[in-house]
Amino acid sequence: MAALLPIQAQAIELCGKKAQGEILKGYATGASKILFNNQEYMVSPSGNFLIAFGRDAQKEQKLTAVSDKNGKQDYNFTITPTKWDIQNIKGVPQKKVTPSEKDQKEITRERSDLKKALAHKTDKNYWEKGFILPVEGRISGKFGGQRIMNGKKMNPHQGLDIAAPEGTPVKAASNGIVRMSGGNYFYTGNTIVIDHGHELYTIYAHLKSADVKVGDYVKQGQIIGKVGKTGRVTGAHLHWGATLNGTRFLPTSLLHMNNADFCFNL
Ligand SMILES: [Zn+2]
Repeated sequence: MAALLPIQAQAIELCGKKAQGEILKGYATGASKILFNNQEYMVSPSGNFLIAFGRDAQKEQKLTAVSDKNGKQDYNFTITPTKWDIQNIKGVPQKKVTPSEKDQKEITRERSDLKKALAHKTDKNYWEKGFILPVEGRISGKFGGQRIMNGKKMNPHQGLDIAAPEGTPVKAASNGIVRMSGGNYFYTGNTIVIDHGHELYTIYAHLKSADVKVGDYVKQGQIIGKVGKTGRVTGAHLHWGATLNGTRFLPTSLLHMNNADFCFNL
């Protein structure tokens, strides 16, 4: 019979960059949930989970793995700061920079629809497939940039802008369920939200057309709509956003989630 060994802290594997604005895939054997950033994160039956650092995340981070067998285990680590740009955007229609009272009603509809779309707690890990770019093109606006529109200071940019001609097909970045489609909103125009499970969503904005329906299951690479210039824009582009459990992060950090070169142990 094997001797009983004292319970040892188990290593947690993370894959991605330990930096502000990044998402990381994690692996913790036997964990039932992860506590991070004062929130609960789902763990798949095989032990996989996701965490993301926001644009202004603190340097000192703590992650807690909760398992029925080992109880709670804390992991402390530090992340590196990311230098964010300043984006000076001119030529935005003035009514889109300073909305009228009538437009405020539209903005309320937009916020409430988006909030509902992002409120699903889907216990599926469709995201394990990995991610692709929804459109190829020049990056015309980076994630996290402090935006100054027609001279007025606005909130930091919450996605990545990819310039492409109007009508260019937009692909689903990974498998998932459509939670929002269309809407012609004040800021984001026609918008698609895909739920990849575990509270990870990708957002596709300013579309000319949204060609899927709420509730549809879409596969990675499937055409979901066309690039357009609806909402608050100065020209045709895809605004690609990503959010995990309410934290917005750099969508391109999804692309190396399945690259083993980016993995390390805590
Ligand atoms: Zn954008």
